[in-house]
Amino acid sequence: MTSPEFGNEQPEPAGDTRAAELSDRLELVRHRIESAARDAGRSDLPRLIVVTKFHPAADVRRLVALGVKDVGENRDQEAASKSAELSGADVRWHFIGQLQSNKAKSVAKYAASVQSVDRTQLVDALAKAVLREKDATGRNDLDCFIQVSLDDDAGAHRGGARPSDVEVLAGKIESADGLVLSGLMAVAPLGADPEAAFERLAGISEALRAVHPAATGISAGMSQDLEAAVRFGATHLRIGSDILGSRPAVG
Ligand SMILES: *Cc1c(COP(=O)(O)O)cnc(C)c1O
Repeated sequence: MTSPEFGNEQPEPAGDTRAAELSDRLELVRHRIESAARDAGRSDLPRLIVVTKFHPAADVRRLVALGVKDVGENRDQEAASKSAELSGADVRWHFIGQLQSNKAKSVAKYAASVQSVDRTQLVDALAKAVLREKDATGRNDLDCFIQVSLDDDAGAHRGGARPSDVEVLAGKIESADGLVLSGLMAVAPLGADPEAAFERLAGISEALRAVHPAATGISAGMSQDLEAAVRFGATHLRIGSDILGSRPAVG
């Protein structure tokens, strides 16, 4: 497996065609989000998280220049390196991938949120890491989204806690110093109807909010299914390939 290259970018020459391409694609996605919200009769707009995984730090810099405030990454090593390269930039980093507990310390240094909290052991590790980082640097509390699996069984498993485990995790996050319970995150199951999946997620969110009223976040919707997610109340969208283009294959 080879690592994609990131970092070490030269300053961009005038007439940056990549910046123009990102600008056009970003504009298209913003239009899609606005019309989806209008069609759904929503007066609010979900927050756009641009998923920059596998793409270089220079692209994040271009996106920040285009007004992007939130980016998503799914691998700690890559995210740590890119966020260090952009230190000082006005952008929040969201961790959206499977996370090993031993990476919590690193993630606490740059992440504004972890959207893939799926087990109590990870909650413990994040709480410890965030407290240490708060003492050292005064960082803010970490926003935590519980990732819920919407697969019926082991089938096409794409990560996440079972819906029946959400309440235990929620209680644990809420009682942890330094962590904020933001809500839920999910990925629509492969090959299934995203509408049905996001409708189910909305129901799980409603049950969560009955106990934790502040946990209003619903992070759902990717390039292929953002319209369905907006219809079922997504507050955060995670869009990668429709803005950045296809990712280089790993393998
Ligand atoms: C890669 C990724 C996305 C973005 O997917 P696109 O199809 O490229 O928009 C969103 N969420 C998660 C969890 C991801 O890993």
